[in-house]
Amino acid sequence: MKLCMIGTGYVGLVSGTCFADIGHTVYCVDSNKSKIEKLNSGKSPIYEPGLNDLIKVNHKAKRLFFTCNLPDALKKTDIVFICVGTPNKKNSLSVDLSYVFNATKEILKHSKAKKIIVTKSTVPVGTGDSIEKILKNKKKFTVISNPEFLREGEAIRDFRYPDRIVIGSNSPSSFKIMKNLYLPLVNKGAKFFTTNRRGAELIKYASNAFLATKITFINEIANLCEKTGINIEDISLGMGSDLRIGSRFLRAGPAYGGSCFPKDTKGLVSIGNKVNIDLSIVKSVIKSNEKRKQLLLNRIHQILGKNIKNKNITFLGVTFKPNTDDMRDSVSLLMIPYLHKIGAKISYYDPTGEKKEFNQLKNCKFNPEIKIACKNADLVVLHTDWDEFKSLDFNKLVKNKKFILYDLRNLYSSIDMKKNNIKYFSIGRPSTS
Ligand code: NAD
Repeated sequence: MKLCMIGTGYVGLVSGTCFADIGHTVYCVDSNKSKIEKLNSGKSPIYEPGLNDLIKVNHKAKRLFFTCNLPDALKKTDIVFICVGTPNKKNSLSVDLSYVFNATKEILKHSKAKKIIVTKSTVPVGTGDSIEKILKNKKKFTVISNPEFLREGEAIRDFRYPDRIVIGSNSPSSFKIMKNLYLPLVNKGAKFFTTNRRGAELIKYASNAFLATKITFINEIANLCEKTGINIEDISLGMGSDLRIGSRFLRAGPAYGGSCFPKDTKGLVSIGNKVNIDLSIVKSVIKSNEKRKQLLLNRIHQILGKNIKNKNITFLGVTFKPNTDDMRDSVSLLMIPYLHKIGAKISYYDPTGEKKEFNQLKNCKFNPEIKIACKNADLVVLHTDWDEFKSLDFNKLVKNKKFILYDLRNLYSSIDMKKNNIKYFSIGRPSTS
């Protein structure tokens, strides 16, 4: 089949490349010229394990093309995926659909033949209906919802072995076409789930809000553990062994971040608001998650004292999770500027390199080696659980023998740290220091 992906970001690029890899011909379109130039020179503009190689193979096999020329890509393809961003509007819970609607207007303007238009972007309930209206309800267009569930860092595996493929359409004949598109995955056992278009749109928001709820729940239980001398890992294990609950997303840590949970929980509340439905659980999740960021900063004050002027604070990892370079809504974006503002000297290391988000901060330096980043630390904040942070010898890395380790991911054991004379704080465990 011949596909056009509008938007070549984390979703459009990965799914476009993976579609090409299962034999389809794919045109990845983006309005960002430098992104397309980079891709045409054989380099991925994002960090995603395994993606570079897959791009090269499929580009070389002439199944995968990158272009800014949407009219040309539309001419050559039958199914068009909308994969553009759907951020929240500024200072608002509601979703900014301008990228989706602009893409739709371009499809209308440049499409001569019949087209199936599929929204892969996460869009509020009823967006498919609005897209149809923009397309003037022309018969040649069929609008389908196919929300994407891939996780950054595991995106290729998630495309190849999805828990489910959700297709929402009000025209039953399109289910067959979509099933054919995904046939290599369905044949391997992927669950192919169909519903109406609004149903598919809501499944995505409800799934993300539920996962955010699970994380927030265990984070609050972790707070309780810290005050009651209990180890949160025991609780996660004990709870997670119940198959009705499940063990995933029950690891306590910092507040959730990233490009999806923060915006999609807010988006879901705004969907509810529009029809006078009070989604009070999701509202409290958002509130609790915001509170948690402050709680982490308060904890740093408890550890270092009120005045942290000139304290050397090292961040290990700044992305919202490992195996991605995505900084959107990472907790570090709040923690680092705050600590910097009150006088701390920040040094950070991240496997995906320096981050433009911190360029304006005078006393915040990226170090390309863990050793250099940690050398003079008073406090090391283990922010992201990259594999390379899992067995560090901190006594060798840090010169200052009185340094403190604040492990936001519980990668280390409190007992081992005590044995090594390291003053250690983690999440949801009784303090041993
Ligand atoms: P992104 O910001 O990485 O990519 C969007 C791309 O679209 C950008 O490269 C932008 O230049 C391009 N674009 C915008 N308007 C365009 C237009 N008119 N023509 C051509 N290109 C255009 O976003 P993303 O992370 O890939 O997310 C895309 C959608 O998928 C969002 O709705 C998001 O919620 C959803 N989603 C994201 C993830 C994830 O992990 N990132 C997972 C599942 C679903």
